[in-house]
Amino acid sequence: MENRLGIAVQKSGRLSEKSLEMIRSCGIDFYQDSRVLKASSPSFPLDFLFVRDDDIPQYVYDGVADIGIVGRNELDESQIELDVVRNLKFASCRLSIAVPKGFEYKGLESLEGKRIATSYPNILSKILSERGVNAELVVVSGSVEITVDVGIADAIADLVSTGTTLKMNGLEEAECIYSSSAVMVASKNMPGEKRKILGRLLERIDAVMLARKKKYILFNLPKEKLSEVSSIIGSMKSPTVTPLLDSSWVSVQTVVDEERFWGVFEKLKALGAEGILVMNIEKMTE
Ligand code: ATP
Ligand code: ZN
Repeated sequence: MENRLGIAVQKSGRLSEKSLEMIRSCGIDFYQDSRVLKASSPSFPLDFLFVRDDDIPQYVYDGVADIGIVGRNELDESQIELDVVRNLKFASCRLSIAVPKGFEYKGLESLEGKRIATSYPNILSKILSERGVNAELVVVSGSVEITVDVGIADAIADLVSTGTTLKMNGLEEAECIYSSSAVMVASKNMPGEKRKILGRLLERIDAVMLARKKKYILFNLPKEKLSEVSSIIGSMKSPTVTPLLDSSWVSVQTVVDEERFWGVFEKLKALGAEGILVMNIEKMTE
């Protein structure tokens, strides 16, 4: 029988869409029906299992799936030993301490002897003990932000991405104690054949992730300005330069980091570049 790799992905929630979009952008298609918990790709040896995110580390550990996409927070909270094979850099969030308005927060020490509600008792107790703070943990599985109002906790430690939910519940973010984003995890004892498939998958993921960080740019430039271009573009080895019909001008093509793009754009314009075209890159290798 053909070797296939099994991947566990969150069925529906904050990780689902981005996880599936990442896999699709690797040229791996599949049909997903929300009533069915499994799917298979006809174009790549990958089988999907759609489950709750909390269960992903255990499923991978048990070999129900070979790999999974999960928030680092869920992995750390589970305390299950898995290989983190890629940091996927989406679904970023932070675990923060939040306190009611008027609470004088001066650092974790302010929580000494207090009741802290959280859904992440393992992560929180590790951080508290590292900082030598003793507090009583109130473990709840959801709606952590109402625990102060209903009187069962003095402060909370919960995942935040914007902070709006906290504010709506009369809480203030006091300190970020831990950061998380999605990771791809793999079982530590995967057979060689499956590792090969994982290697192919990771190669595609890397190409997609690298491409997302870059822009392809194309522009015309007076030929005498060419020597100044490489100092603007920076790290690029050598841009491709093509002659134009008007021999005093050239066309230049190169790739720049997305985060440096606007700086480069402004400098190129100042140098006299014209007809600047900017394109997204679908896939690339270094
Ligand atoms: P499930 O039904 O699968 O158990 P869930 O309600 O536990 O879903 P989601 O709210 O979908 O989980 O969050 C999944 C993951 O998304 C979190 O574990 C975390 O890694 C990440 N995440 C990103 N931003 C946030 C946020 N603001 N609040 C909570 N989780 C976030
Ligand atoms: Zn969950």
